[in-house]
Amino acid sequence: MLPDVQGYDALVRDFRWNMPARYNIAEACCDRWAAATPDAPALIRCRDAGVQAVSFRTLRQRADKLANALQALGVTRGDRVGILLPQCVEAAEAHLAVYKLGAVAIPLFTLFGPDALAYRLADSGAKALIGTAEELGTVQAIADQVPDLRHWIAVHGDAPGAHGYEALLTRARDRFETADTAADEPAVVIYTSGTTGNPKGALHAHRVLLGHLPGVEFPHEMFPKPGDRFWTPADWAWIGGLLDVLLPALAHGVPVVAHRFAKFDPEQALALMAATEVRNTFMPPTALKMLRQVDRPAERFGVRLRSIGSGGETLGAELLDWGRDAFGLTINEFYGQTECNLVVGNCAGQMAVRPGAMGRPIPGHTVAVLDADGHPLPPGQEGRVAIRAPDPVMFLEYLNKPEATRAKFTGDWLLTGDTATTDQDGYLWFVGRDDDVITSAGYRIGPGEVEDCLGAHPAVAMVAVVGVPDELRGQRIKAFIVLNPGHDAGDTLTCALQDHVKTRLAAHEYPREIAYVPALPLTATGKIKRKDLRERGADACPAG
Ligand code: ATP
Ligand code: MG
Repeated sequence: MLPDVQGYDALVRDFRWNMPARYNIAEACCDRWAAATPDAPALIRCRDAGVQAVSFRTLRQRADKLANALQALGVTRGDRVGILLPQCVEAAEAHLAVYKLGAVAIPLFTLFGPDALAYRLADSGAKALIGTAEELGTVQAIADQVPDLRHWIAVHGDAPGAHGYEALLTRARDRFETADTAADEPAVVIYTSGTTGNPKGALHAHRVLLGHLPGVEFPHEMFPKPGDRFWTPADWAWIGGLLDVLLPALAHGVPVVAHRFAKFDPEQALALMAATEVRNTFMPPTALKMLRQVDRPAERFGVRLRSIGSGGETLGAELLDWGRDAFGLTINEFYGQTECNLVVGNCAGQMAVRPGAMGRPIPGHTVAVLDADGHPLPPGQEGRVAIRAPDPVMFLEYLNKPEATRAKFTGDWLLTGDTATTDQDGYLWFVGRDDDVITSAGYRIGPGEVEDCLGAHPAVAMVAVVGVPDELRGQRIKAFIVLNPGHDAGDTLTCALQDHVKTRLAAHEYPREIAYVPALPLTATGKIKRKDLRERGADACPAG
């Protein structure tokens, strides 16, 4: 039987943060485990020779050496260091070394092209960059745009003008004393996904990791439990990979599988999880939708998961149902953003999960839906999702954007830029990003539920819904659809899909227009760029 809502209420009521004045992420994720359980696995990697574990002792030794090497190059407390690596052992070592120095990590996606890298490296004023030899080649082409960047360190190969990573480690001294940082001292800049425009660099303090722990514990069914082992296809350059998986798992001494596929392939992901005995995973909805295309995944591949978390976009009731069928688990959705993450979520073992709701405030966070004047709204009324300061997961500021930082707050509340409602029991129901909510013929429609409904149709592999200008209605709903193999685009299917929404969801929520496309525009974090589709949709079909 599911525990009742009141059980979770007690957890929320009794929760107290225990925030130390001094805190360092590297101490929490590495040094203390290297002292307590040096032989325990910290990272798991797959090599040709098979599955290989890296112990906390080795992780600490190598992070210490790298910290010494960086220090010898002149990197000091407060300096910014770019980390342009996929999910690999060296990426974890680089993060830890930077935190040990009291320097600030700038995680960067290897998927980025030269313009995206130039923007972030210049904005952050990175002094050193640790990257794969291949990626450093991309950055070398834009070297004139990043004058602050003085030291280049190449992992997995050589790059002209760069130090070799292993050579630096070989020469470096062994032991490094981790900086005694204040919990509020800057540790990492994470750029937002850039779903709605130019990405912003959210500066976070060391304490951000402590703030994330309840938000990992609950959606992962009281994480950690004995035998837990984490993997995510989400890049560690994204807050979802770094602070929802890598660092919180290490902070609990739980091993993390360090592996990235060049392109997410559901069958390869399942084979990896089986081979490395993964028990916990965080998969954004886009990845789950791809997994859904595999028949009987758990059984066929021998995957034995204990918890699946998802977030970053709306999960939707359909994927929730599929998760129960496919893995016998409730996928616990959670919600947050780069600036203030993991503040709302589900925990199937502790509360009743309501299909379509993104969960309840996680213990330790105050989340409300506010009206235009900044006052909390009663249940059922749509408003702006806000998080009350102070909160340990809250960012310090946007780098170089004081105006944007100020605009992010009203009074004590951080404004997320998202619209939602609450219900009587405090569950939050996501409506949409402020910009994505569709206003059609006086109705306000969140794209998520229309997408969820269309996604349940067997012809549909991926779908995004936007509002495009309409003289009569203000906006009309347009769906962009990627079809599953074996289905033909055409009027017959369009009518069938429109009927599907009219009969299942609501007559006024059906897409008046459907465009069949080979793929959807996604951010590096796998989120649909509805802004691009809106522009495309408006161009293709002028108002009227
Ligand atoms: P940018 O701020 O640059 O436009 P972004 O907001 O997509 O990009 P992130 O910080 O990675 O960058 O994403 C946070 C946003 O993702 C949230 O504000 C919300 O809009 C969306 N989001 C996160 N979790 C969920 C969820 N469970 N359901 C619906 N939307 C979610
Ligand atoms: Mg945002």
